Amino acid sequence: MERFDVIVVGAGHAGCEAASAAARLGSRTLLLTMDMTKMASMSCNPAVGGVAKGQIVREIDALGGEMGEVTDLTTIQFRMLNRSKGAAMWSPRAQCDKSRFSAEWRHRLENTQNLYIWQDSAVDILFDQSGDKPRVTGVKTQMGVLFEADTIILTAGTFLSGLMHCGRSNASGGRAGDAAVRGITEALQSVGIESGRMKTGTPARLDARTINFEALEPQYGDEKPSKFSFSDSTEPVKEQLPCFLVYTSQQVHDTLRTGFDDSPLFNGTIKGIGPRYCPSIEDKLRTFADKEQHQLFLEPEGRDTNEYYLNGFSSSLPYEVQLDALHKISGLEDVHVYRPGYAIEYDYFPPTQLWHSLESKVVDNLYFAGQVNGTTGYEEAAAQGLLAGINAHRRVKGLEPVVLHRDEAYIGVLIDDLVTKGVDEPYRMFTSRAEYRILLRQDNADQRLTPLGYKLGLISEARYQKFVEKKSLLESLIQYTRSQSIKISEIQEYLISLGLPPISQGRKIFDFVLRNEITLAGLVKVLPKLRRFIEEQGIGDEIIELAEIEIKYSGYIERERLVAEKLHRLEDISIPANFDYMSMQSLTIEARQKLERIRPTTIGQASRIPGVSPADVNVLLVRFGR
Ligand SMILES: Cc1cc2nc3c(=O)[nH]c(=O)nc-3n(C[C@H](O)[C@H](O)[C@H](O)COP(=O)(O)OP(=O)(O)OC[C@H]3O[C@@H](n4cnc5c(N)ncnc54)[C@H](O)[C@@H]3O)c2cc1C
Repeated sequence: MERFDVIVVGAGHAGCEAASAAARLGSRTLLLTMDMTKMASMSCNPAVGGVAKGQIVREIDALGGEMGEVTDLTTIQFRMLNRSKGAAMWSPRAQCDKSRFSAEWRHRLENTQNLYIWQDSAVDILFDQSGDKPRVTGVKTQMGVLFEADTIILTAGTFLSGLMHCGRSNASGGRAGDAAVRGITEALQSVGIESGRMKTGTPARLDARTINFEALEPQYGDEKPSKFSFSDSTEPVKEQLPCFLVYTSQQVHDTLRTGFDDSPLFNGTIKGIGPRYCPSIEDKLRTFADKEQHQLFLEPEGRDTNEYYLNGFSSSLPYEVQLDALHKISGLEDVHVYRPGYAIEYDYFPPTQLWHSLESKVVDNLYFAGQVNGTTGYEEAAAQGLLAGINAHRRVKGLEPVVLHRDEAYIGVLIDDLVTKGVDEPYRMFTSRAEYRILLRQDNADQRLTPLGYKLGLISEARYQKFVEKKSLLESLIQYTRSQSIKISEIQEYLISLGLPPISQGRKIFDFVLRNEITLAGLVKVLPKLRRFIEEQGIGDEIIELAEIEIKYSGYIERERLVAEKLHRLEDISIPANFDYMSMQSLTIEARQKLERIRPTTIGQASRIPGVSPADVNVLLVRFGR
């Protein structure tokens, strides 16, 4: 029987990052997946990033994961969302060529040292149950092959007992065109792991030859596109493709309503809980009954295909109703549909059953990542995959797990939320979930995480040295602005050109940049000595922009840092693993039950569990506090 350090089940977004990280760190890794032609397949929209999700991709890249580079290499349109808002909200988003994205991932994985691929379905997980707690020992595949492993990472996405719905028809499947998997959920339940059902959905895919683009409003990418990866190995996209805006109407809504009786969402057929913030079009009609139109986006699925994704039109209404409604949308009157929208229900495992390392609390050496943890989205899945891959490798080598804190990364917020709060609907990341948004910006993800990625062994020496150089240039530029003053005569004309009142005395460059209307790039243009400094040091536009953000937000950054440090004190107070909460009469009964089930490892974690009140936290502080 072949033996591996790490077996990753499933090559979706979570599985690809997990396998890549574990293998690159030095673990002999098997990536076991049903279909090698669909690695990192985009089951839903052909895009990566967006609000809060874009920050996650930058963090994955900064830590040494691969999603950012793969995205850059396959981008067909790039936009920095929320540019008009504060820097904490800037969020990169890229439309991708779906098949090239998948092919790029496959190419990388096939050429990763220590990584082996096996195309087959895992149908059983094997355990050693001789000790106090079960421990995984391997997997059995549909073809009857057994593989042994020290650790297993389950990243099966929407495939476990998957059931697809379109109107009154339903069919077993992991996603359109793929078989569902049976056996894994049952194996996990047999050792005490709980499971639940969730639901998600996707819109119809359309044939470009039958779309009247003349009638549609194009939406172009950024004039000066940026990119996701901090490394030099990728470049911003050169040729971008447009997306198009389309709108529903009352007529479209009336047509859709004719199918409501046959909707599996409304007639009780679908039992799983769906994502509230990513609703189907029929959900939107119910929730916003007064709205006369909804905006939809037509997004190309790639450079060499006619397939278009209709963002915002996710549906599980009968196909005929979907088609009828589409034909009433301006520009889509004659549209041919490649495949209808559908919904899918699948098994997930409540993530409060995991430690922060993403290892199961119930079964040793078993890790979970991605949609199986009740999340939704490629980025959320990839982030968990990366951490699970790192931690499974570290488990094999007997090293402490890596846990990111809430003030270090959105990935830290994501995992902490999952493990301490659990999920009652598919979890996606929002900026509002993070309490330290000014610290967790997309622009500084490398400063937050690249030193760790380097220490772990996922960032090369050459890349790290470039990062160190960039950081030192940034610091020296900020230092220069703090130390150098501007005389009135040097700036008066510039201030007047901006419509600002003249000033009566000179100030440091730093103080001028603090003002809303003044940019550092603008000052570079009007101050010869600043320009000279920048040229001599070889400081590029990116660093000027970073310095400006750091300066403009310096007050907020400092404040958030202080709050984070205070809360860190709670994170530093550990609670023993086997502590008997039930015997602590001074805790409320609800808190006792929640703490007993979730078993936080620190008081900080305990304080974030819903149902644990500030008074309960005080009780814990008295018991464990220093
Ligand atoms: C119909 C549909 C609609 C969606 N809509 C949205 C949406 O609106 N918004 C959004 O953010 N996300 C949506 N998603 C979810 C998005 O696709 C997932 O969040 C993301 O792909 C999860 O990544 P993952 O790696 O966890 O799983 P997946 O990408 O699903 O990958 C799972 C992988 O595991 C393999 N696999 C599964 N079981 C086994 C096994 N036993 N043995 C071997 N291989 C196995 C599969 O072949 C696949 O490669 C949708 C998904 C589907 C299917």
